[in-house]
Amino acid sequence: MIRVSLTVLIFIYLAIFLTVVLTLWIGFEWSRQRRERRAVRNRIRCALCAFEFEDTSEEPLPRCPRCGSLNERERFRML
Ligand SMILES: [Zn+2]
Repeated sequence: MIRVSLTVLIFIYLAIFLTVVLTLWIGFEWSRQRRERRAVRNRIRCALCAFEFEDTSEEPLPRCPRCGSLNERERFRML
C-alpha cells in the first residue's frame, strides 16, 4: 500500500482538478473562436457605404448589394 500524507493527497487532487478545468477552458475557448471566425468568414463591409453583407462566391471583387461598388476581400474584424 502506498502511504501518502494528507497534504500531498490534497495537492494531487487540486492539481488534477485544475488541469481538467484548464483543459476544458482552453477547449471551449478554441471552439468558440473557431465558430466566430467561421461566422464572419464570408462577411464583407463595403468601403463606400459601410454596408455589411455576406458573399459566398469566389469573386475577387464582390459587388455591394446596396450601392453597387466593388470591394476587396479583406479579413472582417469584430470589435
Ligand atoms: Zn456599398
